[in-house]
Amino acid sequence: MRVDHDHHVHSTFSDDAHSTPEDNLAAALRRGLASIRMTDHVRGDTTYVPEFLAAVAALRPPEGLEVLTGVEAKLLDTSGAVDAPPEVLRSLGTRSGPGRVLLADHQLPGPDGPWSPRVARERLASGLEPVAAVQQLIDAYAGALRHTGPAQLAHPFSILPKIGLSEEHITEDQLDELAAAVLAADAVVEVNEKWRCPGARIRARLDRHGVAMVASSDAHHADDVGRYQWLALEAEGGTRSTS
Ligand SMILES: [Zn+2]
Ligand SMILES: [Zn+2]
Repeated sequence: MRVDHDHHVHSTFSDDAHSTPEDNLAAALRRGLASIRMTDHVRGDTTYVPEFLAAVAALRPPEGLEVLTGVEAKLLDTSGAVDAPPEVLRSLGTRSGPGRVLLADHQLPGPDGPWSPRVARERLASGLEPVAAVQQLIDAYAGALRHTGPAQLAHPFSILPKIGLSEEHITEDQLDELAAAVLAADAVVEVNEKWRCPGARIRARLDRHGVAMVASSDAHHADDVGRYQWLALEAEGGTRSTS
């Protein structure tokens, strides 16, 4: 995995981020990155995407620095519905649209909509099996990968610690199912510095299937663009177990 790329960087178009696309571009240059994916959060009622794309298109990156775009959207339910404006999803990968949608496990997708961590913990406490909870997420990824255009899994499985589970609750069969869905959709899986996921076992299994993985900082400030500590060590260790 190349660590001179950063495939998930937020700007002030996201309400919780602090740097402009210009600042992030300058930071990418300082870091010597070859590629940066400018990515901001969307919801179903977001209207700023054309403005965001225009702002990124107006940047003048020097030769050797590739600027890509994306939108990060929450997985809503086990059918794979995604919390993004339909016209944005339709325009993915076209000249007028963002390059990719980053599918985010900010909540646990349920059959009836997203479950907050509190709700998911309650369901688990009242008998939902961990493997079934994980399957809800796998189903959501698979459905979204079928329905949407070019995609990237954003910080996959970061929801698990928030609901009292861990990557150990994901079975090999579930990883194989996810890998098949990712490959069929020509999608990529990010390895996320901020959330330190997915871990070595997950990456090794996906790698065996030939799934493409990309480095991401999930920076919300220009200082963090392309800045890898955990991820650099992980990349050095390849797929060696670090547990
Ligand atoms: Zn996220
Ligand atoms: Zn993000």
